[in-house]
Formats: sequence, structure tokens, C-alpha cells
Amino acid sequence: GCGICPKRCPFGAITIINLPTNLESQITHRYSANSFKLHRLPMPRPGNVLGLVGTNGIGKSTALKILSGKLKPNLGRFDNPPDWEDVIKHFRGSELQNYFTKLLEDDLKSIVKPQYVDQIPKAIRGTDRSVQFLLESRHTLGNLDSVLDTLELRHILDRDVSHLSGGELQRFAIGTTCVSKADVYMFDEPSSYLDVKQRLSAARMIRSLLRPDDYVIVVEHDLSVLDYLSDFVCVLYGQPAVYGVVTLPYSVREGINIFLDGHIPTENLRFRDESLTFRIAEGTEDLLVEKSRAFKYPKMEKTLGNFHLSIDAGDFSDSEIIVMMGENGTGKTTFCRMLAGVLKPDGAQKVPEMKISMKPQTITPKFEGTVRMLFFKKIKAAFLSPQFQTDVVKPLKLDDFIDQEVKNLSGGELQRVAIVLALGIPADIYVIDEPSAYLDSEQRIVASRVIKRFIMHAKKTAFIVEHDFIMATYLADRVIVFDGQPGIDAHANKPESLLTGCNTFLKNLDVTFRRDPTNYRPRINKASSQLDQEQKLSGNYFFLE
Ligand code: ADP
Ligand code: ADP
Ligand code: MG
Ligand code: MG
Repeated sequence: GCGICPKRCPFGAITIINLPTNLESQITHRYSANSFKLHRLPMPRPGNVLGLVGTNGIGKSTALKILSGKLKPNLGRFDNPPDWEDVIKHFRGSELQNYFTKLLEDDLKSIVKPQYVDQIPKAIRGTDRSVQFLLESRHTLGNLDSVLDTLELRHILDRDVSHLSGGELQRFAIGTTCVSKADVYMFDEPSSYLDVKQRLSAARMIRSLLRPDDYVIVVEHDLSVLDYLSDFVCVLYGQPAVYGVVTLPYSVREGINIFLDGHIPTENLRFRDESLTFRIAEGTEDLLVEKSRAFKYPKMEKTLGNFHLSIDAGDFSDSEIIVMMGENGTGKTTFCRMLAGVLKPDGAQKVPEMKISMKPQTITPKFEGTVRMLFFKKIKAAFLSPQFQTDVVKPLKLDDFIDQEVKNLSGGELQRVAIVLALGIPADIYVIDEPSAYLDSEQRIVASRVIKRFIMHAKKTAFIVEHDFIMATYLADRVIVFDGQPGIDAHANKPESLLTGCNTFLKNLDVTFRRDPTNYRPRINKASSQLDQEQKLSGNYFFLE
């Protein structure tokens, strides 16, 4: 890579039209020669939640490591690192000078909820590894009861951490962070594996940590959660794995809109060619097609151990995307597997037999070989089709790692491979379980667009499970709301319109959404705000335009 490109970067897809001129003097950290460079740093403010948004590999976790004091910034001098005195001098005149002085002199205690919660069980030593013991041994803040209730941890208190599911592990990790007394709290991607309700509870829990003199910093890819959670937002832009630049803190709305727009007005700087918007039919107006085929499935029941799911009869057509919304454990994956014919309903009912291609929720690569070899083996015809290349492979930026071993891919890379594999298999119905997992905010928007265009062009049907509410509402033509008691007795409603479905879903959660006038992204109303109260009174939990 070229590092910093003055105009259009010849190596990457990102266009830097006019970089800040003094960037070279603003290197905060460089791991080694020719490695990733971080310019500037996010500026936390006491008593506020600072949100960080930016693509994968742009330096968010690096920034957290530096702000937590775990990584001493070398100001680019990896061969001859400066001492702390020089570091503080480097930041003089900014709030960061103050921050690092306090970090060193007052010995600020910082605590980080790590990004990869799956690695937590391996890192915990000791004989008692129960959720209860681990939480109680870290508990110094006096809020254990509220943490247990808000994060739904009571029913897993006696479980060993190595037996927790992804969502349980995430809530446990957020919980252990929230019960500790600290001066700096950091949460690296807290919403992974959580459903919408749990994401909102986690956000409230994190905000409850605010005191006039402590700092809370959050990295988050679900933009409605980031929006709900933060007081200020710093955007990170640049070229992933090459360099990242941190902006000044903006108000939440402004910061997220800058990220989506790809343009920083105050610096007259553009860091992405196109801006991203959420008009419902955006990009598909030309694809409004005659729906020519109608399908039906009967009322069905499914029992798995002591879990019971009842499914209302429903219908769907070609050129249609149906999004499944509901809490974890309400049977969305079970229903997907029934559609795919992997699970049979109780009794004699039958799902119509159609050709199904499914992207499972969990992706475990066993393939020996490169991504290209995998595509040649599984989806050769699609992979060689120019249309598929233009519509699917190119926008998902698979070229960056097409010749790497599948086993060595990161979570976000694997997810994109899995989406391409699922769409590359000829089928009548595409079942896509949680496509946003491990993707950054930008990749989520690109993936949603790819899926939507593909389904409309190919005149097929997609059933999609998605917890990122912005992505879910962008994708959905209609929705199926799952309700009932998670893990015990759940119910899938019949497919209904996006508007009525979201209203039902959000009413269950007791939250209302409005739309941003600039890019139409859905925004959560603050609880008990005037809009929130008005919308609840009139029953409009959600708006289409
Ligand atoms: P993000 O959290 O935004 O995804 P990271 O801060 O984790 O990004 O990483 C930014 C870049 O720095 C990546 O290209 C990553 O590979 C690289 N990087 C991270 N840690 C190290 C390290 N210890 N040594 C060398 N490179 C690293
Ligand atoms: P969702 O995708 O909505 O999170 P799932 O369909 O994965 O929900 O699971 C619904 C419930 O069924 C969960 O409580 C899960 O533990 C349970 N379950 C799933 N598969 C089995 C199985 N083979 N045996 C017993 N219980 C199961
Ligand atoms: Mg990270
Ligand atoms: Mg599931």
C-alpha cells in the first residue's frame, strides 16, 4: 500500500480527496516499520460516553489500548520510543494532555470489555469459574443486583463460563466490566451476539456508569445502538490496515452523519466516494418488479427438548425479502432450518419443497485451501458470471483476500465469504441467518445492498434474521415478528408489512424510532422525550419515511 495518498489512492478503493496537511506530524502510534499507523486520538470527556465509529482495521482497538494505558504510544518512533513526558508534550494544548497526565499521575484505573468475547473462557484461571463467583469477585461498585437484572444474568449464575453461548458470554463480559469501580470504562463492540432488546439494555447499563468524573468509551458497529449510547462520536477514517485518522468529537447525530456521508464539512475533507443513505427503496427503484409467484406454508408446530415453537400459516412471493425479528431463543434459527428442510415440523404438516440455499448463523470453516478454490468448488458457475461478479463479489471487496487460506480469515472476511457462497447457489429461497455479525457499519450497509439487489434481480425470495435494526428495516419488504417466552414457548406471527411489523416489534420493546431527515436512518427516541411520548400515544412506534 501507499500509506497516504494525496488524491485517489492507486492501491485501495478509498479516495482521499484532500487529507489534512499536517498528518505526518500527528502520528500517535506505529506498530513497526511499514505497519499500520494511527494518526491523532479520540478525546474522551469526563461524565460523557464517547462513541467510536469506523471500518474494521482502522485503529479503533488500537486507540482503546492507548487510552487505557496498556499501550504506550510511540508517536511513530517504534525504533526509539519516547518516554511518557514526551508523549504528554506531544498532546499539549488538547484535552488529551489533561487525560494522559491524570492517567499517569492519579493512576486512573481503566477496564476494557474486550472485542472477542469468545476468548474469555480460555483466559480465566482458577477453580471456581462460575458466573456468580466471577461477578462477585469483581464487584466493587454496589450495583450487582441491577447488573444481574438488566443484563438477564440471574438464570446463568451457576454456570461455568466455558458453557455460555455467545450472547450469554457477551452479557457476562459487559456485566463484569459494569460491576467494577474504575475511572475509565471501555466497551469494544458490546452488541455482538445480542438481540435488539439486549442491545438496548446493555446500552442503558453502560450509560448508568456515568459519573461527573469518569470516562466511558464505546466502539460499536450497530449505528442505532451507537446513537442511543453516546454523547459524542469520533469517526475513524483512512485505509484499513494501512493507516487511520481520528476526527475531533462531534455531536452524535453529526458524527454518525459524517461517517455515512464520507465527508467532514469543517475540514472540507472527503474520505469516501459515495454517501450512504437509508431511503427504503434506495437503489432498487428500477427493480420494482411484478411479483409473479405466490407460495404458502401451513400453520406448524415444532418441539425441541423443552422448547416449543408455533408458527402461524403464512405466504410469500418472489422478489421479496422477509426479515425475522425477535428476541434470542424465540426460534428464528429453528424456523430457518425448517424452511431449509433440515428440521421437520411436528405432525404431518409439510413446508413446500423448494430449492433452498442457507447461510447459517455460525460459520465454522473446515475447508483446506484459498477462498478462490472454495468458490470454484462450491459456486463455480456464479463465480464465473460477470453479473454475479459485479453485483456480489466486487461490492463485498473479496478481491482483497481471495487468495488467502479460508482457515486464516477474520470474522468479517468469513461472513462475506459465507454470504457470497449462499447467494452463489441457485435456489428459489435464500435463508440468511444474521448476516451483520462481525461486519463493520460500512460493510453492513454494503452487504444489505448486495443482498437486496441480488434478490430483486434474480426474482427470488429471502428470509433473513437480523438484529441490527437499521439493516433489518433497510432489507425488509415484510417482517415476521417472533414473540413469546424465549427458550420455552415462542410464536412466529404471519408475515406482515414493514410498518405494522415494526410497530408490533417495537411496542413489545417499549421503544420508538424516528428518521433522520438527512439520510433517513432510523434513530431511537430517548425514553420519555416529547417525541417518544407522542409516538407512543398515537401508536406510531416506527415511520416508513
Ligand atoms: P479496529 O479495531 O479498528 O478493527 P485495530 O486497532 O485492531 O483496528 O487494528 C488496526 C490495524 O493495526 C490492523 O491492520 C491490525 O492488523 C494492526 N495491528 C493491530 N495490533 C497490532 C500489533 N500488535 N502489531 C502489528 N499490527 C497490529
Ligand atoms: P433464535 O434463533 O431465535 O435465537 P433458536 O431457534 O436458535 O432461537 O432456538 C430456540 C430455542 O430452542 C433455544 O432456547 C434453543 O436453546 C432451543 N433449541 C435449539 N435447538 C435445540 C435442540 N436440538 N434441542 C433442544 N433445544 C434446542
Ligand atoms: Mg477492533
Ligand atoms: Mg438464531
